[in-house]
Amino acid sequence: MFRRSAAPLGLLAAILSLVSAASPAQDKVLNLYSARHYQTDEALYDNFTKATGIKINRVDADDAGILARLKSEGSASPADVILLVDAARLWRAETDGLFAPVKSKVLEDRIPAKLQGKDTGQGPEWFGFSTRARVIVYNKESIKRDDVDTYEKLADPRNKGKVCTRSGSHPYNLSLIGSLMEHLGPEKTEAWAKGVVGNMAREPKGGDTDQIKAVASGECGVAISNSYYVARMMRSTAPADKEAMSKVSVVFPNQQSWGTHVNVAGGAVARYAKNRSAAVKFLEYLSSDQAQIYFADGNNEYPAVEGVKVVNPALETLGGFKSELIPISVVGANTAKVQQMLDRVGYK
Ligand code: FE
Repeated sequence: MFRRSAAPLGLLAAILSLVSAASPAQDKVLNLYSARHYQTDEALYDNFTKATGIKINRVDADDAGILARLKSEGSASPADVILLVDAARLWRAETDGLFAPVKSKVLEDRIPAKLQGKDTGQGPEWFGFSTRARVIVYNKESIKRDDVDTYEKLADPRNKGKVCTRSGSHPYNLSLIGSLMEHLGPEKTEAWAKGVVGNMAREPKGGDTDQIKAVASGECGVAISNSYYVARMMRSTAPADKEAMSKVSVVFPNQQSWGTHVNVAGGAVARYAKNRSAAVKFLEYLSSDQAQIYFADGNNEYPAVEGVKVVNPALETLGGFKSELIPISVVGANTAKVQQMLDRVGYK
């Protein structure tokens, strides 16, 4: 009798000790779904593991791939943290209910309100950790700076046959046009998009770096690019890149009006995160000086946190600029309408 009851009790104790051992152990691995397509991020994740003892199990895909995966996994998703690289995608994921709200004093204090998702009452559902300016790149020989120093001028007839961009439907352009909608209103923005299509030197194709190279070669006179692609080319030691960069100039658009459009790369806790506390810790880590400096050094982005000192020769050469002040969440929310607009004007 004694022995028979001792056995289940012993078993129960063993199970209990396994369970209590399992939860902290589980906390030591964080499942990260990342659309940050920058190899240099590796060191950032290593630093987090060193600082906290939490290992990162990373799944890389592009933004669209990550959203599709989260949707199909539903509540069974192992994702704890999600990193996306554009306001349009962050808005999409938020709207599709893929994120959980986060209340964190650290994040509230460190990340400016205009770089956060809208407040749900239980905190925002995402935070921007680095920013990038959507700049204009032009060929020094064939284009005058005064003709391309605003986004509006890209639609002006004087630039007919000279403009190159990647696809209008790419999130970087959806967000740019979402920002224009806020500044110009929908009618003028649609007229602008139509004007840009009429000014194109070729059908939209390639990524931002391809546009810079096409401007350098003279195939295009002017193009749009995220600032970090420009800075990466500026820091490149490859002779072809050096040659290309000697042919182009960069302008931060709209300095006399509302300022240059600035987009974010941001992070969120997954709606069904199993390791919520580690996930919040990771987001807080991304707002630390160490991580913020890393975004600037490793990937030539701008820190989201104000007052962080970065040393990056390319960013220094590009110099300071005036950026738009509208909340980036508003820009993201405009992008569904932008896509319909682009379909109407044939901006592929
Ligand atoms: Fe990119």
